[in-house]
Amino acid sequence: VLAVGLCASAALDALAAEEEDSGYRALWKRGAYRQALERLDEQLASTLPNAPMSWVSDRAELRFLNGEVDLAIEDLESLVEALPVAHITLRLAEVYRYRGRMADYEQALDAADRRIDAAYRYAPEQTLVVAGRLAELRGEDPKRILSTTYKLLMDSHPDYVPAYVAAGDLAHRKGSYAAAAQYYLQALERDANEQEALAGLAACYWASRDERLEATLETLTKLNPHQPEGVAVRVEMLLDAGKTHEALEHIDAVLKTNPNQLHFRALKAAALFLEDDDTGMAELQAAVLAFNPQCSDVFRVPGRIASRHYRFKESVKLQRRAVEIDPADHVARAELAFNLLRLGEDEAGRGELEAAFAADPYNVAVFNSLNVLDTLAEYELVSEGPFMLQLPAAEAPVLTASALDLLTQASAELQRKYDLTIETPVRVQIFDNHDDFMVRSLGLPGNPGHLGICFGQLITMDSPSARPKGSMNWHAVLWHEFTHVITLQKTKNRMPRWLSEGISVYEETLRNPGWGMRLKVTHQDLIGEELPGASDLELFFTQPKTPEHLMLGYFLSAEFVTHYVSAHGEPALVETLDRIGRNEKALSALAVSAGVSVGQLDQAFRAYLERRFEILDRIPEFAAMMRRGLEASATESWSEAEQAFQEAHTLLPEYHDDDGPLARLAEIYETTGQKDALVRNLQAQMELNTENLSAWRRLTTLYKDRSDWPKVAAAAEGGAAIDPFDLGQARDLLEAQRAMGAHEEALATATRLVVLDSARAPEYQVSRVELLMALRRWPEAKRQVIALLEESPHYWEAQKLLLALVEGASYVR
Ligand SMILES: [Zn+2]
Repeated sequence: VLAVGLCASAALDALAAEEEDSGYRALWKRGAYRQALERLDEQLASTLPNAPMSWVSDRAELRFLNGEVDLAIEDLESLVEALPVAHITLRLAEVYRYRGRMADYEQALDAADRRIDAAYRYAPEQTLVVAGRLAELRGEDPKRILSTTYKLLMDSHPDYVPAYVAAGDLAHRKGSYAAAAQYYLQALERDANEQEALAGLAACYWASRDERLEATLETLTKLNPHQPEGVAVRVEMLLDAGKTHEALEHIDAVLKTNPNQLHFRALKAAALFLEDDDTGMAELQAAVLAFNPQCSDVFRVPGRIASRHYRFKESVKLQRRAVEIDPADHVARAELAFNLLRLGEDEAGRGELEAAFAADPYNVAVFNSLNVLDTLAEYELVSEGPFMLQLPAAEAPVLTASALDLLTQASAELQRKYDLTIETPVRVQIFDNHDDFMVRSLGLPGNPGHLGICFGQLITMDSPSARPKGSMNWHAVLWHEFTHVITLQKTKNRMPRWLSEGISVYEETLRNPGWGMRLKVTHQDLIGEELPGASDLELFFTQPKTPEHLMLGYFLSAEFVTHYVSAHGEPALVETLDRIGRNEKALSALAVSAGVSVGQLDQAFRAYLERRFEILDRIPEFAAMMRRGLEASATESWSEAEQAFQEAHTLLPEYHDDDGPLARLAEIYETTGQKDALVRNLQAQMELNTENLSAWRRLTTLYKDRSDWPKVAAAAEGGAAIDPFDLGQARDLLEAQRAMGAHEEALATATRLVVLDSARAPEYQVSRVELLMALRRWPEAKRQVIALLEESPHYWEAQKLLLALVEGASYVR
């Protein structure tokens, strides 16, 4: 009986589908959900009681899309009664769950399960999709579902588009964005207009910050401007950018058609959170819970958005509520865990992570994070004052002292300047593996652009050993991140990203001009015609067109802070942060503290930038001068070349690339043996950019030649900020410190070298003994030398030392 019913219905469906192209289906596809439902209702009224089954199931979908959830359930129930097939039963189960009818949901799920085998004979493709979804809802291994059920389906029916969409959805829900995007792309290869695939792809691109996002969204919008998942991505983008009013316009438009769109109600809760409308958010949450008492989304989603705005404490509260409402919301539990970790509450965070993992072992970010917590457990932990430093045991002897020294200075200087007592401890975690750093910070590996991240009381960062040699000044990164500790805590994490980064880069530059950022010749093209005002800076961070635009955002924000402080003074900046901490919007806080309007602020900044960028008009002249210099160099006309490069440097004094005038001048000074000029040149290069290991090395040797030991020490330390593992620099430092009689410092360096340069360990051990003797720390010196002799009894240097020690000790005694 069932077989006949299905076949007849399928034939009718095909006939009907043809007629419908101009009918409700076309309206539906364009996103005119209300009109589509009305049209279908008319059709159904005129053909009843012989309407095709597919019309009724379509009506259920359209009713659902229009928020008539209970009527959709009625349709689906009547369908299941007439035609108890697996896919409709599964759909009914899903809608029950949407309505919070969990007992009915479980029952329908079981029923769908029972109907799989029968359905498979008549509609194998569709049934395999149902089987995959059922397996997912039962908590089976998604990788296995993908490699068995969906793979089987794709192999046997390679052109069945819903298979790729379903596989993409599954991977997407588990956070495997790259894999999900591949499935969606496969779906789109077969049907370029598949809306769910386009929406899923856009969501993945959004999650992974892929440049193809905008184009994908545009394609979808052209087909259907109201596709809910697509609109949701737009809303997320706006919320991220803090454009809550615009986001609310989109949200309310969707809710007007479908007041029971739970995801959009959750997004609305997020928007209200950002608006500081706590009452509005609470009312909305209560209303949603009245519709579906299990709907944790209305807490989880605002919690996630809160966390994206660095409001980790509030996020923890929201996720805790989400988990209370639905203990099976593993995503909320994972978010809760991540936010606890960001607050430095590692114990509690690990507990929640483990619970989330036990419930859903297939969440990529949870799995990764647990692994990194295991790695961190192996790290060395150094507590000093307000700081808790965690780093790989092998790197601890090299980095610890220098890191704590820098942090202590930053802490004293910046707390005073920004008039704040920070909450402690401040955790600093330094990773020797970039992916570990990224997983610890954001849950997912990759993204080489990040060097360090600050969450308020926690700093995570790469060790220089995690980056290409010489490419990172880890002192600058640490100073930058600690500045975030100050500004985030000062504003109770209400700091907009752009201002936060602007102040951090500004403070870097104040500390060391070679740390900050410089105007680049490429900036002009990136900016385009119109110079940005202060109000445009946030977009460089929330929606950068390219990674270069993001870097430009850092530069411009730092320029803004420089300009603001020079125009209105540092107290105005500090007052701004106080105001932001009292929930004022950043731009108006900046304006009020400076006694101007936001418009004036924008205008003044544009004028400042215009002057700042004027220098780039000299690029043609600069290029001509560089050419002249190179031509003169080719014929070894050194003084002419020198003059030309100097001229070029005067034209664009911030240009510091490897092929720039300063680098060329250094070559000339090397060739012609002008040592003094070379020293000045290298110093000038360092003031523009410290990330130049070979220049540090050269500078160190030049100072060494002159026996200028304080400068040797300073240059070696500058080099160690780029490559602390470099043996030559460390040995130079030891030599300088010993020559200067800085025994205490030299002892620390020698101790470091024992670990760093094990081949020459005995040599440094001897230095240690000598230094201990110079410091008159006799018992230590004696222990040290005896240990050394136990290891190598015939080591003559050590024997001599022992003799000297015995004599010295008796002498002193
Ligand atoms: Zn930063």
